[in-house]
Amino acid sequence: MYIYNSLTHKKELFTPHEPGKVSMYTCGPTVYHYAHIGNLRTYIMEDVLEKYLRYTGLDVKRVMNITDVGHLTSDGDTGDDKMLKGAKREHKSVMEIAKFYTDAFFEDCRRLNIKIPDVVVPATTYIDEFIRVISSLMDNGYAYEAGGNIYFDTSKLDKYYVFNDFREEDLAVGVREGVEADENKRNKADFVLWFTKSKFDDQELKWDSPWGVGYPGWHIECSCISMKNLGEYLDIHCGGIDNAFPHHTNEIAQSEAHLGHKWCSYWFHVLHLNTDDGKMSKSKGEFLTVSLLEEKGYKPVVYRFFCIQSHYRKSLVFNWENLDNAAVTYNKLIARIVPLLSAKGAEPGDTEEMERLRQEFRNALDSDLNTAQAVTVLYDVLKSGADSASKLALISEFDTVLGLDLIANAEAAAAENSAAESDIPAEVLELAEQRKAARKAKDFALADELRDKIAALGYEVRETRQGTEIKKV
Ligand code: AMP
Ligand code: ZN
Repeated sequence: MYIYNSLTHKKELFTPHEPGKVSMYTCGPTVYHYAHIGNLRTYIMEDVLEKYLRYTGLDVKRVMNITDVGHLTSDGDTGDDKMLKGAKREHKSVMEIAKFYTDAFFEDCRRLNIKIPDVVVPATTYIDEFIRVISSLMDNGYAYEAGGNIYFDTSKLDKYYVFNDFREEDLAVGVREGVEADENKRNKADFVLWFTKSKFDDQELKWDSPWGVGYPGWHIECSCISMKNLGEYLDIHCGGIDNAFPHHTNEIAQSEAHLGHKWCSYWFHVLHLNTDDGKMSKSKGEFLTVSLLEEKGYKPVVYRFFCIQSHYRKSLVFNWENLDNAAVTYNKLIARIVPLLSAKGAEPGDTEEMERLRQEFRNALDSDLNTAQAVTVLYDVLKSGADSASKLALISEFDTVLGLDLIANAEAAAAENSAAESDIPAEVLELAEQRKAARKAKDFALADELRDKIAALGYEVRETRQGTEIKKV
């Protein structure tokens, strides 16, 4: 598989450190509120990546953190603590908020067919590990204490801006308008590993440490949770593009300073989902959640389909019209699968044709996870000359990667169709059958006559690609 690596800005052949195995890390949610559908775009595309790696036979171990402490509203170690803000908003404790929104996140994942990673670690359960790594960074001279906090010293690195498509002066804290400079920092890019002098006196969660009672900075959790569970060599690290700087940049700085060698080989970043008027937000405008989509009558899987129809490295605009279009396309796709269901349980016969289509599917995803192209291959399957059992088997196989509930929803649509059919009088059904036979025999005059008889009984009959459609008029 070729995959775009944000670190090298190139598509590279994906070669895991240990043949046959993949270590994969995902930045998890900050559980101070519901996830918005932008956050979930990132998790959907990461899920397709994980499932595709497994589909190709690789043994994937995937780890994710849950940020329940330390993430401030500004990435420059300033602003409010997001968890504390959430707790105040809802008059609950930080731990109550964390539990509630962690559960809500997993519920969203379930509805969107996003597999839960093999290991999920809330940051608050790894404090000892953070302290251990920060201590080692202090010992080897990569960290310093100033004004009560522990900072990472970015001047000790040969290269800090590893994703190097950023302009240092645009990003460095202290030069952006409205962002307060931290007087304690030796270099403007330095970042906090451990806070003891917090401006939040009411910070609920604090732990003892060699540097005093306090709490961790945000970035340290992902380095520690990854290294502890996936070892010193990480194959692939995922996240939304906003995480590349400063979060992932800082993760690399501290992990490599701690390990003394290169840490992660591939960086997979998903571009943002935006609204018509720009950035997706949890506080401004309509707060777009999976529950809101459901309330408005959309199946969550339609949102997944909407995401999969676009490439993960292109930003995507969400609006209701675009989602409506995805719903129409999805329903049409399902309707085309319905006639294949009668072949369920039959032995697929066209092994050669199946292999050709399977190769097409793999070519699409091998090419930097081109999910839009993989969806096109579903249509190629439907159009192919293969027998129905082979088509059904392939669609079901591809859906282990795409996660679109294609067979289940085709079965549901078939059940709905037959329920609607059972309301149609037997006489009309009989005439429709006769008409179908007449059309097959190319006796179109008789077919028209039968259509008129059906119309006289108040029904309209049509032949579609999915079969005969009868409607009351
Ligand atoms: P957070 O809960 O803020 O830590 O974010 C969870 C994940 O969602 C991270 O990987 C972010 O990079 C990603 N993310 C945030 N906003 C968006 C967006 N508008 N579109 C896609 N991904 C996003
Ligand atoms: Zn992270």
